[in-house]
Amino acid sequence: MSIIRERLEKIHDRIARAARRVGRDPDGVRLVAVSKRVAPEIIHEAFLAGQILFGENYLQEATEKKKILDQGICWHGIGHLQSNKAAPAVATFDLIETVDRIKIARALQSKLTGQSRLLPVLIQVNIGKESQKSGVLPSVVDVLVEGAVSCENLQVMGLMVIPPYCDNPEEARPYFRATRELALRLGERGLLGQDGQIELSMGMSSDFEVAVEEGATLVRVGTALFGNRG
Ligand SMILES: *Cc1c(COP(=O)(O)O)cnc(C)c1O
Repeated sequence: MSIIRERLEKIHDRIARAARRVGRDPDGVRLVAVSKRVAPEIIHEAFLAGQILFGENYLQEATEKKKILDQGICWHGIGHLQSNKAAPAVATFDLIETVDRIKIARALQSKLTGQSRLLPVLIQVNIGKESQKSGVLPSVVDVLVEGAVSCENLQVMGLMVIPPYCDNPEEARPYFRATRELALRLGERGLLGQDGQIELSMGMSSDFEVAVEEGATLVRVGTALFGNRG
């Protein structure tokens, strides 16, 4: 069995156990394989092992990989986006997790206007209010979500966060919990999700089990699947 297949099974097992600990259905959590700086052959190997959803940080890298890789792959944009790159972003990604200002939402919308295509997006929230980090501040997330919802070709499915770096994954728990509470509040206002289903993209290699316990529906895992990035 390939090492990638083995690691995939382990990660799925850990997700399932974390979900069951809190009475969640493991099928409610999807793994986003974060493949930045991972060679296309390795991505292909993961695809053959059943992984369909991949996350890429860098638009150009993602565009090149998409050209040569399998049609069946679903690509999530998880990196910081520039509004002047909206056209290639829309062409490359199936879902964009990092809408963090109205300018980006409007730039994406402008590339989709007149098409029947709906682009699912997540709103990236700077849940730890860190000065150097991307993401909209929690205090003004409502305004951004309202603005994004008014873009007719965008489907605002939920929130994405990268909490402050912690040595102990337990320290991330309050941030994950705060994110879920924020999403529920926005959901109650009818601003997030589709048919009551709200996406919460949170948790990485070091803390995805805690994120699943706190309600993550998407976990973004790179290192635990592909090994250390060179
Ligand atoms: C790199 C990256 C990840 C994956 O991190 P690992 O610690 O390697 O699992 C997840 N989310 C984002 C936004 C990233 O840039």
